[in-house]
Amino acid sequence: MPATPAYPPLSAPRLFVDVELSDGAEIRLDGSHAHYLIKVMRIKQGDPIKLFDDRTGEYLAHVTSLGKRDLILHIDGKTRERETVPDLWLCAAPIKKDRYNWIAEKATELGIAKMVPVETERTQVRFIKTDKIQAHMIEAAEQCERTSLPSLDPITALHDLLSDWPEDRHLFFADERIHESGEGSFRKALVAHDGPAAILIGPEGGFSDAEGEAIRSLKQAVPVSLGPRILRADTAAVAAISLWMAGRGDWN
Ligand code: SAH
Repeated sequence: MPATPAYPPLSAPRLFVDVELSDGAEIRLDGSHAHYLIKVMRIKQGDPIKLFDDRTGEYLAHVTSLGKRDLILHIDGKTRERETVPDLWLCAAPIKKDRYNWIAEKATELGIAKMVPVETERTQVRFIKTDKIQAHMIEAAEQCERTSLPSLDPITALHDLLSDWPEDRHLFFADERIHESGEGSFRKALVAHDGPAAILIGPEGGFSDAEGEAIRSLKQAVPVSLGPRILRADTAAVAAISLWMAGRGDWN
């Protein structure tokens, strides 16, 4: 007896569309979405597709007509509401493009709410391609089944980030030099500090002494260690987000 496939089949493609969706609506896809579905996924008339809009939620749709470069979908019904993810920001100095895009992708999968590129004294990358970073976030959200996208701020100088810091948000400052002092237990910091949070990760060259002082002078700053070894910025970002998600996020 062949097993009955779970409906929609787990393999149903899942796409973010930047238009508000609703039950019973028709939606036309062209461009890269159409190319992916028609050429890569070889979608057929009647096939199911999951869509989410980062506004109202996730829907199940099916193909009602198929062109060479476009297709029409009928939205059959909502499958999930747009979720609220844990209130964690990642404030990270831009590093080499590919690795920074990788950070954006992993941070999205791990569940952050916002990413803030922070320009510091030793940041070697002076500008970032926001659309490319967003594309990596969207792809990660499609794959990991988020129904909301992280927001991405424009690149912000560390000084400005600190001077406008929100009153109620803890800033977990990943300081690679704190370990020897025996201070900076991340575990203890998580127990002591509940509520909205952010993680601050420096560039390949780390923070300058003056920057370290400026960060520590913020009353919301919580200096934390990520162990005795010097991690690459991308490793540090993933490690810190994971620790916070397990301790204060939605990993239960
Ligand atoms: N200046 C360092 C390298 C910086 S690593 C050096 O000595 O070569 C890039 C960033 O990752 C750091 O600024 C810090 O935010 C974070 N990081 C790396 N290892 C860490 C650790 N063991 N503890 C806390 N943060 C760390």
